[in-house]
Amino acid sequence: MNRETSRDLYDRALSVMPGGVNSSVRAVQPYPTFVRRGDGAHVIDVDGNRYIDYVMGYGPLLLGHDLPQPVEAAIQRAASEGPMYGAPTEVEVDLAEFVVRHVPSVEMIRFVNSGTEATVSAVRLARGYTGRDKIVVMRGGYHGAQESTLVEGDAEHPTPSTSGVPAAFARETIPVPFNDEEAAREVFERHGEEIAAVLVEPILGNTGITMPVDGYHGTLRDLCDEYGSLLIFDEVITGFRVGGLECAQGTFGVTPDLTTFGKIVGGGFPVGAIGGRAEIVEHFSPAGDVFQSGTFSGHPVTMAAGLETLKYAAAHDVYDHVNALGERLREGLVDVVADHAPEYTVVGTDSLFKVVFTRASTPAQDQACTAGCAQDPDCARYEQCPKTGGDVRRAETERWERLFRPFMAERGIMLTANQFECQFVSYAHTEEDVEETLEAYEAYFE
Ligand code: PMP
Repeated sequence: MNRETSRDLYDRALSVMPGGVNSSVRAVQPYPTFVRRGDGAHVIDVDGNRYIDYVMGYGPLLLGHDLPQPVEAAIQRAASEGPMYGAPTEVEVDLAEFVVRHVPSVEMIRFVNSGTEATVSAVRLARGYTGRDKIVVMRGGYHGAQESTLVEGDAEHPTPSTSGVPAAFARETIPVPFNDEEAAREVFERHGEEIAAVLVEPILGNTGITMPVDGYHGTLRDLCDEYGSLLIFDEVITGFRVGGLECAQGTFGVTPDLTTFGKIVGGGFPVGAIGGRAEIVEHFSPAGDVFQSGTFSGHPVTMAAGLETLKYAAAHDVYDHVNALGERLREGLVDVVADHAPEYTVVGTDSLFKVVFTRASTPAQDQACTAGCAQDPDCARYEQCPKTGGDVRRAETERWERLFRPFMAERGIMLTANQFECQFVSYAHTEEDVEETLEAYEAYFE
C-alpha cells in the first residue's frame, strides 16, 4: 500500500504543529493516515487507499460519511444563510426540544462546543449548585482535556495526570475504581459532605468499553441521594448511540441529575451539551449564578446537523441496523478469539466493539459468550470481562501498535488508533463490510 503522501504531510505537519496533529490520539506512528474524504462507511486517504472506517470521527458519525439527503440539505441551507450570528435561532430551540422529548432526565439543556466544554461546565454547575468542591471520577474514565478530571492516583492521593494541572486542583478530585461499590461507599463515608458530584461514563468508552456490573450505577445514584451530591452521566460517547434516543441511562434504568453530551448530538460538527433537571440547569447564567457562555455555542450549522441526524434516526431503522451489525461483529470476533486467542476479550454493546489484548487472569477456554458485557454473573466468562478499567490498562499495547493496527490498515480496515478507545459501526456499514472485517481479524489471528 503506497502511503507516501501521508508520510510527507506528516513531515510538514511536524514542523508547524506539536506532534504534527491537533488531537493527541491522531499521532499514529510511524505516521498517521491523512484522510482526503469519506464515502459511506469508508474513508479514502490522500494516497487514494480505501478503508472500511470504524473510527467514524471517534463517534459523531452515526449515519456514516455520506449524509442522507434531508440532513445534508439542512446543513447546506444553514451554512449558506451565513455561518453564525451571535443571536438565538429557531433551530437551537428545535434541537433542545427534541432532546428534552427523548431523554427523560433532561428537562433543560445548554449547548456548548465540545465534550470537554460540556464536562467543564457540568462540573462548575455541580459545584455552584451544591456549594461543594469535590468531584468523584472513575479511574480509567475520560471526560476530555479538562483540569478537574485529568487526575490519577487513588482517593486519598489524587495527583495530576498531566503537567500543567496544579496539584491543588487535583486535590478536589477523588478517583475511585469503576464498578467497585465498596470503594464508592467508602469515599462517601469519608468525604460525603464535600462531594459536589460523581462524574461517570455509564460505560467506560475510552478504556476498552468497560461495562458497568449489574447495579453499580444504582448504587452511585443511592449514594448521591443520601449525601446530597449530584450524579452526572457523561454520555459524550454513549448519548444517542447506546440505548438509541433514550441513551445509555435508558438502558441501565438510572436517572442522573445531569448528563453531558457531545459527538452525535452535533451530527459531525463541534458540539457539547449539558442537560438535566431544570431546577439545576437553571443555575447557569443568565438564569442563575454559575457563569457559562460561548461565542459559538448553539452554532446554527451544528444545531441543524444534530437535529436532522436525530430526526433521521428516529424515523428510520438506524439503531436496529447499527446494533445488528455490532452484534454480528462481536459474535464473529468471539468465535475468532475463541479459536485462536482465548485469553483475549471481545468487548462492546450496541454499535460499539473492540478486541482488548488483555490477558485474563483466568482464561476460560472454549467458552463463548456474547462478548465482554459484565452483565451476567452466571456467564462462564464473567470473571474474564474487564471491570475496572485497570484490567484493560494491562493490555499488550505493544502488540496492538506494532502488529495489529498496521496489519488491519494494510488490509483496508481503519481502526481507532489506540488500544483503549472504542470503535463505531455506522448506518452506512453493510453486512459485506462486517464479513470482510471479520476475515481480516481471522487472518491476523491465524
Ligand atoms: N467525555 C467522554 C466520555 C469522551 O469520550 C470525550 C472524548 N472522546 C470527551 C468527554 C471529550 O469530548 P471532546 O473531545 O469533544 O472535547
